[in-house]
Amino acid sequence: MRLGFFGAAGEVTGSCTLVEAGDTRFLVDCGMFQGGPEARAKNLRALNFGFDVRKIDFVLLTHAHIDHSGLLPRLAVLGYRGPIYATPATIDLLAVLLPDSAHIQEKEGEWQLRHRHRRGKDERGIPAPLYTVAQAQATLRQLKPVTYGATLQAAPGIRVRFHDAGHILGSAWLEVTANDEGRARRLVFSGDLGMPERPVLNNSEKVVATADVLLIESTYGDRRHRSLPETEDEIVAAFVRTRAAGGNLIIPSFAVGRTQEIIYLLADLVRRQRLAPLKVYVDSPMANAATQITLAHPELLDAETRDLIAWQQAHPEKMKLTFVADVEASKALNGIRSGAVIISASGMCEAGRIKYHLRENLPRSECSILIAGFQAAGTLGRRLVDGARLVHIFGAPVPVRARIYTVGGLSAHADQAALLDWLRGFQQAPGRTFIVHGEATAAGNFASAIRERLGWSAVHLPQLGEWIDI
Ligand SMILES: [Zn+2]
Repeated sequence: MRLGFFGAAGEVTGSCTLVEAGDTRFLVDCGMFQGGPEARAKNLRALNFGFDVRKIDFVLLTHAHIDHSGLLPRLAVLGYRGPIYATPATIDLLAVLLPDSAHIQEKEGEWQLRHRHRRGKDERGIPAPLYTVAQAQATLRQLKPVTYGATLQAAPGIRVRFHDAGHILGSAWLEVTANDEGRARRLVFSGDLGMPERPVLNNSEKVVATADVLLIESTYGDRRHRSLPETEDEIVAAFVRTRAAGGNLIIPSFAVGRTQEIIYLLADLVRRQRLAPLKVYVDSPMANAATQITLAHPELLDAETRDLIAWQQAHPEKMKLTFVADVEASKALNGIRSGAVIISASGMCEAGRIKYHLRENLPRSECSILIAGFQAAGTLGRRLVDGARLVHIFGAPVPVRARIYTVGGLSAHADQAALLDWLRGFQQAPGRTFIVHGEATAAGNFASAIRERLGWSAVHLPQLGEWIDI
């Protein structure tokens, strides 16, 4: 048997692992590289992936995030016709996320074309989108649902089980049992693991007793998250100050996961009377779709969240929640001068309706911006966090007079302590452990923590493109 590491090796995006077990070959995840100019080059390299996609027998998908799923349509375009196994909620989310990813690529291509035409040049040199909206939609037909706990006979001698990873709706860690020349070998793929005791989703399921091979994510493998009570205090402080000053509270947020978490926290703070009654507008088509999908899967929500939804439905006046659908209604929000909480995407303020709300509210000292997610270098969100006094939105200068709050405790990923706790579920050290899905420093520090704290010795940091016999 051998493993091929084709993404998320020494970095956090592009998850893609190829497993060869006898005559069977399968992929775990097929994600897009994201962030920075190098990501674009790497996605283009995925024009041929470095392996023959037609020889893949099946694909296992841990969850819907684009850095795990975003190159699935590319795989299909190149000739992969087999099944892609994922949980039902993941499939629902992909129906929104994959066509959206294609749409963004098509728009970017059109923009570049216009830009070149204006400069009197033709379209030569403009990279084609990795896939079109139609191709993304066609890929959705290859998705096959597998529920948590069910045993999937994916190929002769290969059984797979999906377990709740508590990361985003439908997320899973995978247990694969493969027959290797008469010997049953167990492989565990962590996918992305959620932070335990956080709102909305259940905690990740405990691991199986043993594994011959483990791949574990390490996004925050060298960090500790702030506690939830601290995060709540920060939100209350931002809200109280903004209400006293007579402004609006603007929250840039990722559409999937983070938006639903923030809605939960706000409703819970109102229920506990730490916040006065609220008017909350969710202004992002993607966030609205993701929230609807979340509500359509009550079986995946934790008990506290189901309670809170019931409370909110019984007391709609306490937290008036409006999902803004069309552009006109979105523009009308600009007329609200005070008392509104507006949650909008994109999470790093680079695209989408959030830019209009920032343009409107940033120059007003009575308003506040609550940043609740990771902001990559070079984004508008990062400039705000770094204290810029002037930013540019749609090419025009916008002074920053609103108060910027950064809330540190919300993360969809387990921190180092939570990752180590999950690993303690193994009754003995896995035969070999591979650290993936982390920047080099985080992955390296996490490997040391595993060696020192758990006493495991066979811990490896794979390189991009590396093949390893297991
Ligand atoms: Zn993820």
